[in-house]
This record gives sequence, structure tokens and C-alpha cells, in this order.
Amino acid sequence: SSHLGGIQVAPPDAILGLTDAFKADKNPDKMNLSVGVYKDASGQTPILRCVKAAERHLVETEATKGYLPIDGGPDYRDHVRTLVFGSEIDSTRVCVAQTPGGTGGLRQAAAFLADQMGPTRVWIPSPTWANHKAIFASEELPIEEYRYLADDKKSLDAAGMLEDLRTRSKPGDAVLLHACCHNPTGVDPTLSQWKEIASVVSEKRLLPLIDFAYQGFGTGLEEDAKSIAEILSQVDEAFVCSSFSKNFGLYSERVGALSIVSADAKTSVSVQSQMKRLIRCNYSNPPRHGAAVVAAILDDADLTTMWHDELNQMRTRIKDLRERFVTTMKSTGAGHDFSFLLDQNGMFSFSGLNPMQVDELRNEHSIYIVGSGRINVAGMSENKMEQLCGAVAKVIE
Ligand code: PLP
Repeated sequence: SSHLGGIQVAPPDAILGLTDAFKADKNPDKMNLSVGVYKDASGQTPILRCVKAAERHLVETEATKGYLPIDGGPDYRDHVRTLVFGSEIDSTRVCVAQTPGGTGGLRQAAAFLADQMGPTRVWIPSPTWANHKAIFASEELPIEEYRYLADDKKSLDAAGMLEDLRTRSKPGDAVLLHACCHNPTGVDPTLSQWKEIASVVSEKRLLPLIDFAYQGFGTGLEEDAKSIAEILSQVDEAFVCSSFSKNFGLYSERVGALSIVSADAKTSVSVQSQMKRLIRCNYSNPPRHGAAVVAAILDDADLTTMWHDELNQMRTRIKDLRERFVTTMKSTGAGHDFSFLLDQNGMFSFSGLNPMQVDELRNEHSIYIVGSGRINVAGMSENKMEQLCGAVAKVIE
């Protein structure tokens, strides 16, 4: 009998499956607002100029393709620590590992929770990035959901969130928080709400597991890290998973990090050794190129300035697209106010469109958004705004 013959076909990834359908669509005016990738006005996902410059420098100067340390290069790790925690934090309490993307960081965090802290229960927001559940389930961690998006589907259910964490969680549980630009809703807590979240995390002795995939896409590099500073002002341990896919446009290079903050330097040494042991038996050590690009940019003042400019451009363009969408929708006279999109952050927003309307957009207008109604605002374009809003107006009528 066959060893493999009984294996069933896995369900396709909900979002990447839409991309296949989009590619097959013959309509020349088709629009893909599903997958979370930044696009410029010409519909491309460009390589940043600072990245190109750093790559040219690397081609000239790189002397080896020998293995990196298990947790990545020290230069890169120092830069990540400063980006995420600022220069004030006591570096002996923070260990950083370079990981293959933010996903790799989350998976190593999950492995750490499973291996070192008993099978920690993880609280995730409802809704959250679909991969969160799959990642924690892969390490057999029990998962619970806390309320996040209010019933109006436009704002934060702060009271529900705090109540769930206060009354349903147990000391020792981990709580997954999106530091900024919540995926898929675009709805973030305010700084004063972060203070309240931090107090509950502290009161209930929860372990914050912070997903930081969009640093610089919300308000700014430092501003977006304030949520993390707020948490760390009230607790002395945290996990942070960074991704540099979006803010450096290095999607396919798989650049990210897992940072673990411990209460003291002695603990940090043990934590780092266990983190390295877990990485060693997973992917052994991280890929060189993407992290070398990030380090080369952050090592050089001119390239860093160039990066800040390019990141600012992406952020302000997304905000501009939000405004254009809202005003163009108004001008269609469809009578539905989308101005809530202006309060939301990052690439994504929940549009409030229901699954039937989402299907109609795809079938009748070749506009692809996720079934939940999540729109990738960064996939919109200035010159197709009328077309997009006209179609949305038709399906919500
Ligand atoms: N976390 C969130 C919330 C994301 O949206 C993403 C990417 O879409 C990731 C993590 C993973 O990023 P990466 O592509 O670097 O693995």
C-alpha cells in the first residue's frame, strides 16, 4: 500500500488563493486589493532606492557567504534593538535573534513558549492576521480570543478587550498585541488605551507577545514604538516580533527578528541560549542578504535618511489614498460614509462590505478584496480611484 496515497489536498491559503484567481482574470482593469503588499502609483512594488544603494555597496564589499551566527549578525541585532526599544533600554536585558521574516520570529516565539514555559495559552485579538492561529497551533499552544473590533466594525472595543483580558486570562498566559497598524482592521488603541492595556497585562501577570510588522507605517518609526514602550513601562518581560518586509520593502528576502526582554541580564543569558538552541534545530541560522541590507542602511547616515524619506513617502501616500477613497466615495452619492477609514492606520482597513458584496466586486468588477471585507489600501491607485469607488457604490446600493 502507498505511504502517501491517503493524503488529502490542503485548503488553499485564503489570501494567496485570491492572487491566483486575480492572475487568471483577463479583465485589463482588474484590481488586486487583497494581498498585503505596498504598491506605488504605477502599481509596482518597487525596490527602495536605499536598498539598491546598500546592495551595490554589499556587492563590492561582501567578502564571504559563510554562515551567520545562529541568532544573526551582531550589527543587525544592535540596530533592531535600537529601532524597537530606543537607545535607552538596558541592552543586557534584551536578546535579539535575526529570523526569516516576521513569520519566522513569531514561529520561534511560539516554539519558545511551548518548549520553555510549559504550553503557554495565547490570547489573540478577534479578528487577527489569519496566520497567527496557524502558527501557535503548529506549536500546539492553546489559543483563546479576546474582543478587539467593536460591533460597528470600525472602532476598537476597548472595554471588551480589557474585560476579556481582566476576567478570562490567567497569570502566565501570553497575550498577542499588534504594536501598530492592526492587521486586518487598521484599528489601533490610542496611547491612553495602551496605558490601560499595559496595566491589565501587569495586574494579571500576562506575558506580552508583540507583533511589530508595520513599524513606520502608522505615525512614524518612533511613534509606532510607543505602544511597546508603554507596555515595558509597566512590565519587565516581553517578546517582540519585528518584520522588515513592509518598511524596507524586503518581502522576499525574509528579514525579521525576535527580541526577548528579560527582567535582568542573568536571565537574558539563559533566554538567549535557549532561543539559539531552538533555532539551531529549526533552520540552523538565518539567511544573510536581507539583514545585511538593513544593517548597511542603518550603518550609514545618508542611507538611513534616504530610508526615512522613502518610508515617509509610503506612509503619507497610503494616508492620501485613504482620503481620496473617502472623498471619491462621497462624490458617488452612494450615501455611505467611509470617513472612519481616516482614523485607521497602516495598509489595511475593514471596509464593512459583506461577503456577498465582496463576491460581487470580484465577479462583476474584477476587484479582489478579502472575504472579510479587508481592503489593502496600499493596493489602491490614484488613477483607478473613480473606477474603484464606482464599483463599490454599485455593490452597496
Ligand atoms: N504579522 C502581521 C500582522 C503581518 O501582517 C505579517 C505580514 O503580512 C507578518 C506578521 C509577517 O511578515 P513577514 O512577511 O515578514 O513574515
